Amino acid sequence: MADTTSVKQIYELRTEIERLQSQKDTLLKELDQTEENLETSQKLYQRYLPLIIDLLTEGRSGFPPVLKELSTAFKKGSSIAKIEYLFFKLHETMLKEERTAAKTGGPSLLARLFSSSNRRLLEEFKQGYLEIINTLKSTLENRHMETLTALSKRILKAKDPRAMGHVRDDLFDLLQTHIAGLGDDREKLTQFVQDIVQRIVGMEELIGKSFDYAHEVLEPGEGFDNLLTGEIERLRTDIDVAETLDGLKTQVSGTLLTIEDALKKKVAKERMIKEVAEKNRYTFQTGFARFKKELDEATRHSRELEKKLNLDPLTGAFNRRAYNKRIEDEMDRYIRYGAIFSLLVIDADKFKNVNDTYGHAIGDKCLQEIIKRTSSHLRKSDMLARYGGEEFVVVMPETDGNGAREVAEKIRQTIAKIEFIYKEDAVKLTVSIGATQVKEGDAVPQDVFDRADVAVYQAKEGGRNRVVLN
Ligand code: GH3
Ligand code: MG
Ligand code: MG
Repeated sequence: MADTTSVKQIYELRTEIERLQSQKDTLLKELDQTEENLETSQKLYQRYLPLIIDLLTEGRSGFPPVLKELSTAFKKGSSIAKIEYLFFKLHETMLKEERTAAKTGGPSLLARLFSSSNRRLLEEFKQGYLEIINTLKSTLENRHMETLTALSKRILKAKDPRAMGHVRDDLFDLLQTHIAGLGDDREKLTQFVQDIVQRIVGMEELIGKSFDYAHEVLEPGEGFDNLLTGEIERLRTDIDVAETLDGLKTQVSGTLLTIEDALKKKVAKERMIKEVAEKNRYTFQTGFARFKKELDEATRHSRELEKKLNLDPLTGAFNRRAYNKRIEDEMDRYIRYGAIFSLLVIDADKFKNVNDTYGHAIGDKCLQEIIKRTSSHLRKSDMLARYGGEEFVVVMPETDGNGAREVAEKIRQTIAKIEFIYKEDAVKLTVSIGATQVKEGDAVPQDVFDRADVAVYQAKEGGRNRVVLN
C-alpha cells in the first residue's frame, strides 16, 4: 500500500515537475519573446516618434509642452506607463486645439502644419522672382531701377502665390517698356521679349504644379495627420482594453507599424515634392542664365544697332540722323539755360569735277580724308557729321561765332594742303565753310542751319575756298 502510494506520489510529483518544467520553458520562451517585442517597440518608438513630434513642432515655439515631454520620454526610453500617459495627454491637447481653432476661426495645428509646408514653397517662388529682379537690375538701364526695387519689396511682402502673379504682370510690363525704349529695331526685340515671357510663364507653371501637389499631399483631414491622430486614439483605447501584457504589446507593435508605414509614405512624398521643387529651381536658374545671356546679347545688339544707326558708313563720322538729335539737344539747352553753340556747314568745292576726273572711288577717298583732317581740329565735345553727299556739319557747344570762324579757317587751310597723287596728277581739294552762332530769336535748329547755309552760299559766291561767318 505504502509502496503503491509512494509510486503514485512519485508519479504525480514527476508529472508535476514535468509540467512545471514545461511551464518554465514556456515562460522562458515567453519572456524572451516579450523582451524581443519590447526591444522592437522601443526601437520603433525611439526611431520614429521623435521624428513625428519634431515634424509637428517644426518651426513652432509655444506649442503644448506635451510634445516636447513625449519626445524626451522616447529619447530616454521611459516606461510604457509614462508614454501611455503622455499619449493620452497629447491626444487630449490635439482635440482641445482643434476645438479652440474651430471656435476662434484660427488655424488648427494641422492647418498650420499644412501652411508651413506651403510657406516653404512660397519662399522658393519668391526666391526665384528675386533672382529675376536682380538679373534685370544688372541688365536694364537705370531708369528701371525704381520700379525694380519696388517690385523686390512687394515680393518680400507677398503672403500668397496670387500676390506673385501681380508681380509677374508688372515685370512683364516693365520688360515691354524697356523694349519700347530701345528704338528702331523694336519689332525684333518684341519677339525676343515674348519668347522670354513665354519662358517665365513655363517656369512658373512648374512651380505652380508643386504648389498644387503639396496642397493635395498635405491636405488636412485625409492625409498623414489624420491617420496619426486616429492611430494615437487607437493606441490609447488598446491600452485601456488590453488584458495581457502580450496582447498589449502585439497591438502596440501593430499600431506602430501602421504609423511607420504612413510615415515612410509621407517621407517619400515629401522627398518627391522636394525633388520637384529642386528641379523647378534648377530650371529657373538655368532658364535665367539663358535669359540673361540673351538679354545681354540683345542689349549689345541694340547698342551696335544704335551705333550703326548714327554713323555714316563711308567716312565713319556721325550721320544726319545723329546730327539732328544732337542739334535738337543743343537748341533745348540754349532755350532753357542760354547755353550758346555754333554750327559749321562745310561743302567741298567743285566736287563733281573730282569725280569726273578721277572717278568715284577717288572721290570717296577724298571725303574720308576731309573727315580725318577736320576731326583733328575739333574738341571732344564737338560733333562732326556727314550731312549728305560732299557736305559736312560741325556742332560746337560753348563756342561763339568768332571761335567757330577760327576753327573753320584752320580746317579750310588744312584741307587745301591735301595732295592726292593719282597717275602723276596731284588731286587738289578745297572747301567752303559757312559758320554761325545760335542767336536770340532762333527757335528751332533749322533757323541756325539756314543761316550757316546762307554763309556757305556766300563763300561759294565769293570765290570758294573760304570761310564766311553769318
Ligand atoms: P560746288 O563747289 O558748287 O559745291 O560744286 P559741287 O560740284 O561740289 O556741287 P554739286 O552739289 O553740284 O555736286 C556735288 C557732287 O558731289 C555731286 C556728286 O558727284 C558728289 N558726291 C556726292 N556724294 C558723293 C559720294 O558719296 N561719293 C563721291 N565720290 N561723290 C559724291
Ligand atoms: Mg553740295
Ligand atoms: Mg560742293
